[in-house]
Amino acid sequence: MKVTDPICRMTVETETARFVSERAGVRTYFCSAACRDRFEASTPR
Ligand SMILES: [Zn+2]
Repeated sequence: MKVTDPICRMTVETETARFVSERAGVRTYFCSAACRDRFEASTPR
């Protein structure tokens, strides 16, 4: 399945995604560790 990286709007393939964040049971996929770090820094835990 293809999803959109919420930080840079790039398309990410979930089956091969290496950068995933899980919050409150919701998985979000990223193109890179930098995007994931930005997302986690901007999302309250
Ligand atoms: Zn990205």
